[in-house]
Amino acid sequence: MSIASHNQKFAAPETADGRISLIGMTLAEMEEAVTSLGLPKFRAKQIYGWVYQKGVRDVEEMSNVPKDLRAVLAEKYSVERPKIITDQKSEDGTHKWLLGMSDGQQVETVFIPESDRGALCVSSQVGCTLTCRFCHTGTQPLVRNLGAWEIISQIMHTRDALEEWPSSAAMPRLFTNVVMMGMGEPLYNYHNVAKALKIVMDGDGLAISKRKITLSTSGVVPAIYKCGEELGVNLAISLHAVTNELRSQIMPINNKYPLEELLQACRDYPGASPSRRITFEYVMLKGVNDSIADAKELVKILKNIHAKVNLIPFNDWPGSGFECSDWQTITNFGRILEEAGYESPIRKPRGRDILAACGQLKSASKRAHTKRTDS
Ligand code: SAH
Ligand code: SF4
Repeated sequence: MSIASHNQKFAAPETADGRISLIGMTLAEMEEAVTSLGLPKFRAKQIYGWVYQKGVRDVEEMSNVPKDLRAVLAEKYSVERPKIITDQKSEDGTHKWLLGMSDGQQVETVFIPESDRGALCVSSQVGCTLTCRFCHTGTQPLVRNLGAWEIISQIMHTRDALEEWPSSAAMPRLFTNVVMMGMGEPLYNYHNVAKALKIVMDGDGLAISKRKITLSTSGVVPAIYKCGEELGVNLAISLHAVTNELRSQIMPINNKYPLEELLQACRDYPGASPSRRITFEYVMLKGVNDSIADAKELVKILKNIHAKVNLIPFNDWPGSGFECSDWQTITNFGRILEEAGYESPIRKPRGRDILAACGQLKSASKRAHTKRTDS
């Protein structure tokens, strides 16, 4: 399947009341919008700043736009955010929101605070087509791609919730990093993800530097090349197995883009260096991919790649058929990588109590949905 064929289904950027969302528009699109309303082009730059730098929640707040022009603008356009359907906070501070889009679809977004930084785990699709065996999101058939405005809305919503506007102020922030690791495969929705991230990275936009953005992919090789050339964000690869045989079993995308091609795309990734490494995610599945031989093979296949490995304890979900490796097995595995010079932290599971951890995201939306329809 071509990359383009995954981009066909996405919602028109309409808010619940039928107006068009300014969120997700590039400056050029805003210029087109204001000129079509008969307003002077330079207003677009002001509006762009109000939307992405100041985070206004109402066109009325755009105080340097004359009142009558605001009225014309507000008739057709809006800066409305998605609806907050649920809001849960974990014992460890992880914060998860279920957000309702204007067509009723729901996505989860998870904020993970740490002592010196805070990352927002952003979703790119409702569901996923890729059916990785260990991932709960993968059991939910793809409903649709998210539009650029729905991807950016997750970030804007979080800035609202943490009261961290404006974008450009050099103030200490809780929310510093974006990780495209929520529901869905971002590189199967490349068009919308790229459009959104360009606005997120724009200094006059949301102003989050590409060094603070990480995109995680299961390995859509042609789109990795595009992502490196056009976006240059940090790359994370969901590797999870060191042989084609096992990887194809647990990640069917490997049949299409086998390990050799994937690892070559990593070697070729622009900007990768010892200080800017590619992260390889490796979920620890008991008796499946966690042997000493696997660890040694991993060291071999990562040769000549500026890499670090994140060992992820498997987060269980009902009917998964997998178990998480024992702690001792995980630390032994990590030691082999460390001895070979690869930093390999064991990712601390965050937000498990509210089902916000990696691979658990589907269950919560399903539950909330069931609750809603039951009531
Ligand atoms: N589709 C993208 C990004 C979303 S998944 C990707 O696959 O990279 C985010 C990360 O969570 C991936 O590394 C994924 O492999 C991992 N993951 C999925 N299910 C998991 C589970 N049950 N336990 C732990 N990690 C899981
Ligand atoms: Fe999709 Fe990523 Fe889950 Fe695989 S691990 S099913 S690509 S969300």
